Amino acid sequence: MEIARDGSLLTFYVDIKDQVTLICPKCNAKRSLDATPFKDARQAMKVNCTCGEVFRCAFEFRKHFRKKVRLEGTYSIPKTKESGDVLIDNLSIEGIGFNVLNESHNIEHGSVLTMRFKLDNKQETVVERTVKVTSVRGGSVGGMFFGSARNKTVGFYLMP
Ligand SMILES: [Zn+2]
Repeated sequence: MEIARDGSLLTFYVDIKDQVTLICPKCNAKRSLDATPFKDARQAMKVNCTCGEVFRCAFEFRKHFRKKVRLEGTYSIPKTKESGDVLIDNLSIEGIGFNVLNESHNIEHGSVLTMRFKLDNKQETVVERTVKVTSVRGGSVGGMFFGSARNKTVGFYLMP
């Protein structure tokens, strides 16, 4: 996800799973990669796209508190009716990270999912949110909650 452009320098948000999807400014080709090695990088990374475009990119790591969790849930893609089980491993007020149990899923960058899961709090609150996928690496998926409305229950749940 591109957030800023300064000359040939593009800045991309790193998601809850420390994954980032680079998008070529010329041909829109997408490439997801693990941004962990760039956490302390001082220099921009140079990318050579297959279309011939060369661009530099910087990574913006999220500073929101995220909680390591282990919650069972489900996803469904309203558009294709695909659905399945997931194991959620990261949760923040704005994003979610999970592993899809069925490795042959068709979730891709930009997919919009309906996620349903139960918090392991006393009330066993059921949460249903729309999620926009920001990264996919095999069965490992990261996404952002759709819309700006914050979920009070999730916010309370996340308090350290
Ligand atoms: Zn390109």
